[in-house]
Amino acid sequence: MIETANGAIGDDELGATLMHEHVFGLSPEIHWNWPDLPEDWDFDRRVREAADKLDEVKALGIDTIVDLTVIGLGRYVPAIAAVAALTDVRIVVSTGIYTYDALPPYFANKGPESMFGGSDRMAEFFVRDITEGIGRTGVRAGMLKCAVDRPGVTTGIARLLTAIASAHHDTGTPITVHTDSDNRRGLDAQRELRDRGVDLERVVIGHAGDSTDLDYLRTLADAGSWLGMDRFGVEFTSFEDRVATVVGLCARGYAGRMVLSHDAYCFNDRVDPDIVAQRHPNYRYPHIPTDVLPELRRRGVSDEQITTMMVDNPRAILASR
Ligand SMILES: [Zn+2]
Repeated sequence: MIETANGAIGDDELGATLMHEHVFGLSPEIHWNWPDLPEDWDFDRRVREAADKLDEVKALGIDTIVDLTVIGLGRYVPAIAAVAALTDVRIVVSTGIYTYDALPPYFANKGPESMFGGSDRMAEFFVRDITEGIGRTGVRAGMLKCAVDRPGVTTGIARLLTAIASAHHDTGTPITVHTDSDNRRGLDAQRELRDRGVDLERVVIGHAGDSTDLDYLRTLADAGSWLGMDRFGVEFTSFEDRVATVVGLCARGYAGRMVLSHDAYCFNDRVDPDIVAQRHPNYRYPHIPTDVLPELRRRGVSDEQITTMMVDNPRAILASR
């Protein structure tokens, strides 16, 4: 069974799945203090709007999204549960911490080598999210998430990776690592997780698709990991480059190692929507079904390979324990 915000489902019910998305990116401390500023968070309105956006992709053939919003990105699962109640798209939620360097002070100031000492409780929090549910929603996390970005494996990131690996060993939950492809941080993530006893076949290297370096990508895949070709629509790597990379890897036999996604949000208070619409006009959920998949087919990617990337690979990642 796979845990979703709509309840547990059989892995045959996952269908076409976007493996790296977000519903809401929120800044609660900003909302507490400047509630009337332009970001305009209104629970009911934003929940309805998100459900409409998800219904739109459901009509385009997407059945499930994995929401990788964790601590540090404004995770608020009551809102996700409210969206899930209004849409037929299944939403898998996740646990973990999003940081590139230092841990959030709540965790950084506690733990064995911290200023104030004590025990390190990150793994305990993650396991609780997976086994008991998040907050008081009863929604259980189905994915672990952390990041190895440009700064690499700092003291804080090393502690986080240890906690993620520990929760993974306790629960069997798969891991997605946000990585910085420019600095080939996927290799650092693999080394650190392997050193902590994690089977790399349980690990998605997120944002691998920002790279066009097929040697780098094949090295990651040959070590066993899944490649997150997961920022379609984010234009710092162009549509042309993102598509050509997937086509190139399919031609070399790697369709069985890739998952496709956008890293998009229904509502994200940390970006200016007008500027995003201008610079990244395709940074939205319908982009893969309406633009990317037709272009992949046009360039010789078979329907079978597309089913592998959209259905079979997500199922293999989420269903294995
Ligand atoms: Zn993301």
